Parts: sequence; C-alpha cells; structure tokens
Amino acid sequence: MRAVYFDGAGARMRDDYPDPGADRNAGGGGESTVSVTLAGICGTDLEILDGYMSYRGVPGHEFVGVVEESGGRGATLVGKRVAGEINVGCGRCGRCQGGMERHCPARTVLGIQGRDGAFAERLSLPARNLHPIPDSVSDEQAVFIEPLAAAFEISEQVQAAAGSRAAVVGDGRLAQLICQVLKMSHGDVTCFGRHAEKLKMLERFGISTRLGAEPGEESKVHGNGDTQSFDIVVDASGSVSGFADAMSLTKPRGTLVLKSTTASGSGADLTPAVVHEVTLVGSRCGVFGPAIEALATGTVQVDHMADSTFPLEGFGAAVGRSREGDALKVMLRP
Ligand SMILES: [Zn+2]
Ligand SMILES: [Zn+2]
Repeated sequence: MRAVYFDGAGARMRDDYPDPGADRNAGGGGESTVSVTLAGICGTDLEILDGYMSYRGVPGHEFVGVVEESGGRGATLVGKRVAGEINVGCGRCGRCQGGMERHCPARTVLGIQGRDGAFAERLSLPARNLHPIPDSVSDEQAVFIEPLAAAFEISEQVQAAAGSRAAVVGDGRLAQLICQVLKMSHGDVTCFGRHAEKLKMLERFGISTRLGAEPGEESKVHGNGDTQSFDIVVDASGSVSGFADAMSLTKPRGTLVLKSTTASGSGADLTPAVVHEVTLVGSRCGVFGPAIEALATGTVQVDHMADSTFPLEGFGAAVGRSREGDALKVMLRP
C-alpha cells in the first residue's frame, strides 16, 4: 500500500509498504483494518519529524476512515465510518485492568510509539479503540475528534469552581480547541497568542484575547495587569517560553495545566510553582465520547480551522504548510 514512512532522518512516500492487515490479523490479534479517508497533521507529528520519541514508522494519529475488516466483536463495525483512540495497552497489567490503558507501560500509540499510523492507505487498531461517527459529523470535522478529546481531558482533570478565570497560552490548533472547551466549563476564558488572525477566530466564541510578542522574542505576556490573575492556566503554546508565561499568569494556589511537550528539555524554572503553591497538571489524551458529542451537536466548532488538504504524495508540502505561523489543520487524503 501507499504510506509515508519516517526512517529517523526523513519522511517519504512509499508505494510498497506492507499492508497492516497482512500481519496484524494473521496472529488472531483481534485488530480491525481501517481504510483511511482523511488524516490531520498536528504539532506532535512535527515534533516526531524533529526526533521526538525516536519514532520510526508511519506517522499520523488523527484520522477518520472506514472499517474494512474486523474479527470477533468488531464484526459489526465493518463498513462503518470511524475515528480511533490511539493508545493500545497490553490488556493484562495492573494499569490496563484498572482502566488506565493509556498509561500501560507496554502500550503502543498509533503513529507515535511502536505502531504504524494514519498517513497511509490503511491502518490497524483493536476494535475496542474504534468509535462510529454520526452522519451529522463530516470527515473534515471527524479529524478533530482526537485533538478535541485531548482538550476535554482538561475538564476531566481540573474541576471549574464558580467564578474562576481561565487562561490559555498559545493560539494554535490545540489551543483553539482548548479555548472552546474551557469556555463551556469556565465561562471566563482569555487566550494569549501571537497571531492576530488566529486570536480573531476565538473572539466570535466570546473568548478574550491578548496579542503578545512575536516568535523568537522572550515572552508573549506583557505587563498588562494579567500577572497572577487566573485560577487555571493551560500552556498549549508548543514553545519553550510558553511555560514561563503560563506560570506568570497563574494565581497563587492556582492550577497550571501542561499540554506542551516542548518544555521538557528546557530546564524550566519551577521555583515560582513552589513559592506560589501552584498545582501542576500534566495532560495528554482524552476519551472520545465527549468530543464526538460536541461535534455532533455543534457545541464545539471546527470548520473554520480546516486549512488545506494534500495527497500522500504531497506530504513534504503539507508539513511545510503546517509549520507556517498562520496554518491551522492541514490534512492528508490517502
Ligand atoms: Zn495530535
Ligand atoms: Zn497494560
């Protein structure tokens, strides 16, 4: 089949890549083969191409597709349009048994860790990971289910108290979704970004915005009275300076939610977290149910975030577009 393969140095389209159905189903692994209709490129994919996770294989983890074949309990899924949760645990360890499959030490993660992903004609996932998509959700919208679930994960982890104020640092793909989700739970949401046109998109949802410094400058947060004034602050900036910005916005005894993996190697200064008794919450993937519901009912809107669509052959150009400052969701149509 045709697939984009990343060998650690570069990614290129191959048309002789082994079909996932060929080996996954051979061992009776209970996996379903999905024909990928549309896949989204996100910041994590760009980080993987830069060496994150030392991943080798087919990247891509945001997708919508149609189930081609599926054994056992997945048989009813054949022919259905689906999105898929990306973490696959061993099913036997204490964490899997305790409902924490996403944290299984032996897990594979679609297109990120030990499992070929969605930038291909076909992919394979266990039937239990697949969710049928209602007709009212388009393919373009369904590509947002995975990142939107990651945004809803914040609401699962952090309860909103009445009258609390929320801030989001960053105005990119994930930050846009987080702003809409926090608007539902918190009401008072301010986004700190550095792209005027992206901030403008948020204003229609009643989200306050602050335009900060340009990329490469020290901080996106200026001395405008916002320092230490938010109960919950989410760093979804994808930039090293975002963590310090987010920390400076967090009230004493407030909560700082970390959605960016980029800060990990930056030697971020944690002293303010101690001095101001800030609670740090790491946040990654979420469950799909609330995300599918929000798209089906229109509570969260994503149509304005679709950027451009490329064939697999255009992967290089798609990545190039995705890295541009004004780009939102770039998609691949295998
Ligand atoms: Zn992603
Ligand atoms: Zn496990």
